[in-house]
Amino acid sequence: MNRKKLGLYIHIPICEKKCAYCDFYSVTHFEECSRYTDSLLLQMEDFSKECSSYEVDSVFIGGGTPTLLPKKNMVELINGIYRNFKVLKDAEFTMEANPASVDLSTLKKYRKLGVNRLSIGMQSANEKELRGLTRIHTFEEFCNSYAAARKAGFDNINVDVMYGIPMQTKESLDRTLTEVIRLEPEHISLYGLKIEEGTPFAKHEDKLVLPDEDVEYAMYTSSIEKLARHGYKQYEISNFARKGRECRHNLRYWNCEEYLGFGPAAHSYFKDRRFSYKRSVSMFMDALEYPDAGINIFEEDYEVTPSARVDEYIMLQLRLNKGLDENDFKERFGVDFGEKYAKDLKLYLDNGFMKYENGRYFFTPKGMYVSNYILSSFLTFESEIADNIASGLDK
Ligand code: SF4
Repeated sequence: MNRKKLGLYIHIPICEKKCAYCDFYSVTHFEECSRYTDSLLLQMEDFSKECSSYEVDSVFIGGGTPTLLPKKNMVELINGIYRNFKVLKDAEFTMEANPASVDLSTLKKYRKLGVNRLSIGMQSANEKELRGLTRIHTFEEFCNSYAAARKAGFDNINVDVMYGIPMQTKESLDRTLTEVIRLEPEHISLYGLKIEEGTPFAKHEDKLVLPDEDVEYAMYTSSIEKLARHGYKQYEISNFARKGRECRHNLRYWNCEEYLGFGPAAHSYFKDRRFSYKRSVSMFMDALEYPDAGINIFEEDYEVTPSARVDEYIMLQLRLNKGLDENDFKERFGVDFGEKYAKDLKLYLDNGFMKYENGRYFFTPKGMYVSNYILSSFLTFESEIADNIASGLDK
């Protein structure tokens, strides 16, 4: 039987201290790790029946800081994943780690249990910049945790780097990348700092010494070139990998494939529905423990309409370097992408933001940098596309 494939995301919403720029849902001083683990296991049990026709080919334990969950609880959680889902032998199994919270024996244990990819949040090799970001670790601590990960047997490691951060210069970012490349991780994520509403950075934005836009643009494009020179091919706006080491789990998101998220703030795309949970760990635990209490943990829950499917497909496929395949688009939605969006495409192609080659539309580095803006211009639902889908053209 040819089973459908599924990705699993498990959110561990715990951090030792909130970083001043971070908008991810997490809490500090959390003392109910066993109770939270039990809630996650209950939720997995709830879904396991519905997933009996699926095979899991990627698992991602993210946060927050998963490596802050006590080892005993993490072991229960990992065993619970295997118990409730059919995880393929060669599945990609990622865990996020903060350099200040990993040790060799714990990493060895997780590696033995099947975790085969580690994602370490380094952000910068410059101490001043790390302090500016209010990170709790030093560069030296990152190097130690990286070495421990290799020693524990991880041969697939991602390192997160940030650009456009306070006090950063083009030269200091270049030095950070040199340090990371020297370590030869299989994957590097390079994120631009965004000032997220409600964070301390947003509150004090006027006091932050941020690189200006031209410098930030130069940081992004020169990083792409540098990483390419060292064998890290860009495959998505913020992601670079050695050949064959692209993150399979994240590719699921961008290829509009199904995944289930567990825990508060986690998102899912499953059986044509998109849903996410509220940002409250206590509400999440209460709801799982008292299923008859009528606690609504959904932040959103909707069926993906034909129009939303078109929008999502364009939005997600164009994030990837390989871009959008016009034949695939036509097959799915019964419409010629090039004709439908001719006016927008001409503007972006003529001005060097996009390219068209071998039936694919894709962003240039210049286009990648402003991709959010460009993508929004495509997101206007066209009723003709919806009609085509409704009349059975959707494959
Ligand atoms: S450690 Fe990660 S998840 Fe936690 S506050 Fe910092 S950036 Fe956010």
